[in-house]
Amino acid sequence: MCILVVEAGISNPGQIEEITTPFKTFNLRGSKYDWAYKTTMIKRDDYEHIEKPNTRGTTIGGSSCVNYFTWILDPSRLSMIGRLLGHPLTEEIFSGEMEGLTHCVDTIYQGERQGSSLYLKNKPNVTILYGIQSKRLIIDPVTSVCSDVTVISNAYNTEINVYTSREVILSQGVFDAPKLLMLSGVGPATELAKDGIKPIAESPHVGQHLLDHPIVPFVLQIKDGFCLDDHILCPDTLNNSAIATYKRSKTGLIRSSLLELVGLPRIDERLEKYPVYRESKAANGRLDLFGPAGQPHFELDFVGMFSTAFQWHYPSPRRGTVTLNSANAQVLPNINLNFFGNERSQPCARVQTGFHPCGTARLSKNIHQCVVDPKLRVHGVRNLRIADASIIPVIPDCRIQNSMYMIGEKGADIIKSDNKYLYDAQSLVSS
Ligand SMILES: Cc1cc2nc3c(=O)[nH]c(=O)nc-3n(C[C@H](O)[C@H](O)[C@H](O)COP(=O)(O)OP(=O)(O)OC[C@H]3O[C@@H](n4cnc5c(N)ncnc54)[C@H](O)[C@@H]3O)c2cc1C
Repeated sequence: MCILVVEAGISNPGQIEEITTPFKTFNLRGSKYDWAYKTTMIKRDDYEHIEKPNTRGTTIGGSSCVNYFTWILDPSRLSMIGRLLGHPLTEEIFSGEMEGLTHCVDTIYQGERQGSSLYLKNKPNVTILYGIQSKRLIIDPVTSVCSDVTVISNAYNTEINVYTSREVILSQGVFDAPKLLMLSGVGPATELAKDGIKPIAESPHVGQHLLDHPIVPFVLQIKDGFCLDDHILCPDTLNNSAIATYKRSKTGLIRSSLLELVGLPRIDERLEKYPVYRESKAANGRLDLFGPAGQPHFELDFVGMFSTAFQWHYPSPRRGTVTLNSANAQVLPNINLNFFGNERSQPCARVQTGFHPCGTARLSKNIHQCVVDPKLRVHGVRNLRIADASIIPVIPDCRIQNSMYMIGEKGADIIKSDNKYLYDAQSLVSS
């Protein structure tokens, strides 16, 4: 089977030092490798807060090439610290309770970032068209079959149609996947009508149910010599030596993802002091609303440099949206994360995205509930699947890059099993 990948950004993230060098990751925000979406964080009658850039990678490998590397695994090394701080420790957070302190596993190998672009390495049946942006899916209004995609090249000031003999798989991420569906006539009727787009399939959940983890950074004063700033931020002897070590052997402090330690606490006793919490819990069958199955209430990210971060582990109570700003494909969509949408909550001006948005083309049974079915096929359209964070209906209790890899691998299995004859023929040829 031959695969054509259309990517708006660059094709060689593994050769770009800013992307591969771990400590340079914070410089990628707002760089030419960032889509830099403008995003509404809070929109209430009493308060509005808009922020830019909301980072997403514009390269093969997408946001896995600009993200903060961390997966959470293997807390055993921290058992002593955990005991000292009085926090329980879970030895295996993926199959049991996550509460406690844990050491992060990073997507760094031999001192360099490892992104999802590696999946395409040495794949002779994959062709990459890079620097090319999708404009519209061509869907037959009578048969609802998606057969082509119109794409734009800014460099050559041209647009062309690319044809598929089998199917189109949309992996443009949580903001651009719903945008392309709507530009192509698949979405809520009112949204399409607003921009004068001819409807192909009325799909009311496209661009709805945007979920994310809110995050609040805070700064701690640490004794001199206990922090990484001298080694990483300030241009002096320590910094020069860290750079020299990294250049020589890809080791040392510059190899750090900067986020090495994570705390995953529950604060039941503190919450119980508040009547509003007790009332909500009583109304929920005595089950805690934030972590009914024992999940952590939030996360503390210990960044050993300029600040540290506090992340909620439950989704924003009122869900956000991605809608069109224009029928022009080159205009970024309108994103509203809707943090503190619940009028009972107090808005916090410092709130930011935890960079785990999902849900805008969520998976479920039918078009009245969602956008894609369990085989990732878009309801109301044929020959079109989605495989990216937009399909996640319930935000995972942690980082989501590994969930994305699971969706990619599971999606590949589904496609292979739906096209069995192709693979059987291939194995006959190779044997
Ligand atoms: C700053 C940051 C830090 C993060 N930190 C972590 C972390 O520490 N751990 C973790 O697990 N997760 C982290 N994440 C989240 C994780 O990286 C993402 O959830 C994941 O990569 C999303 O994958 P995706 O396939 O849905 O979308 P993306 O990876 O964003 O891929 C979308 C792709 O589509 C391309 N595209 C978009 N529109 C078009 C178009 N019109 N035409 C052509 N191509 C297009 C983009 O260029 C991109 O290559 C972080 C994310 C960010 C941004």
